[in-house]
Formats: sequence, structure tokens, C-alpha cells
Amino acid sequence: MDKIKKILLVEDEAKMRELIRIAFKKENFETYEAVDGKQALNIIKNFHFDIVILDIMLPEIDGWTVCREIRKGSDIPIILLTARGEEFDKLFGFELGADDYIVKPFSPRELVARVKALLRRAENRSVETTSIIDLGDITINTLSREVKVDGKSISFTNKEYELLLFLSTNQNIVFTREQLLLKVWGYDQYGDPRTVDTHIKRIREKLGSKSSCITTIWGVGYKFEVKR
Ligand code: CA
Repeated sequence: MDKIKKILLVEDEAKMRELIRIAFKKENFETYEAVDGKQALNIIKNFHFDIVILDIMLPEIDGWTVCREIRKGSDIPIILLTARGEEFDKLFGFELGADDYIVKPFSPRELVARVKALLRRAENRSVETTSIIDLGDITINTLSREVKVDGKSISFTNKEYELLLFLSTNQNIVFTREQLLLKVWGYDQYGDPRTVDTHIKRIREKLGSKSSCITTIWGVGYKFEVKR
């Protein structure tokens, strides 16, 4: 069975949010909501979604800017919502990296159909390309399990690789040593948290000048952050 798709809906009008939420609930999507651009950017930094539905006229930070900011770090599908009569330049939208747009008022069914089409396209795309995780100066090929730093291939042990992969695919989230033991080693007890420290130490040594992407949060644990 397909896994449940998560939508981030960015829209300041409560009525519109409700309409969209109900339409997607019927289709078994999970909808998360942000009411302004600033909130949207905060949420997207920390959580994974499959698609973003983004209104253009928003308080705090407008949809154009949100779209541009999202594209700096992600190729998640984005569909723009625009009001009729609003000045809307679709070429500008595509230039910023939006995948599609829909003009209000629209039928919720049409929006659902567009979202499904975009998700299908994104899935086809990911079959070809998700093997490479691009972290700027570091790249991880998840098919060959090869890690390159500044274009140079570096060898990692199995657990070092898995720990690096886990952290780098969950960027900007702080994990405790216990959480990492559970996620990477599968220990829910009896694991020694120092195992994590020694692995982090070795990963940092191997990453050399790029080791600062793994930050120690004193008293808590570790997080991964791409510094471009
Ligand atoms: Ca609006």
C-alpha cells in the first residue's frame, strides 16, 4: 500500500484551508497547515512533506519568497494558489521553481487531481535521481554507498555510513545519543551512548574540513546542518 502523503498547506484564509483540508482528508492525505510565510518556512525546515500548496498573498512573507527559499534546499513539488484578478505572472512562478499553479476559486477536486499528478511526476523523477544526496561539498550515493568529500571518495564503515546518512537526511534536527542508537543500531536499551560519540568522532575525522556540518549540542546530542 502507498504510504500516506503529507501536504503542507500555506494559506492565511481559514475558510480556504478548511475546504482544502476536507478535500484531501477524503483522499487519505495528511494536511499540515501554516497561516503565513514565516511559519511555513519554519515548519518546512524541520519536517518532511511530499508536496507544498502555497498561497501567494500571505502575511509576513509572501508566497513568491517562500517558494524561492524552499527551492534553495529542496526539490519538493510546489503548487501555487493565486486569486483571480490578482496580478499573477506564471512565468515568474515557474522561474522561482513552482511546479504548477491554480487560480481561485477552483474546485477542490481539481486541486486534488493536480496534486496527485505532481506527486506521480515527482515519484518518477525520484526513481532516477534519489540515489545521490547532495550536501554541497559532500555527496552520498545511496545505491553504491559511496561518500565523496570535495569530489574525493572517502571510505566509511557500515555504521559510520548509516549514521552519516541518517543525520544528513534529517537535517537541522537535534538527536540524542539514545535516539541515534535506536535509529542506527536498533538498540532500544543496553546500548552504550559512547558508541555514538566514537562514531561521530571518526566521521568528523573523515569529513576533514567539512566536519563542521555535524554540530554537538552540549548536554543533548548531535545535529547535521549543511553549511553552503
Ligand atoms: Ca491569501
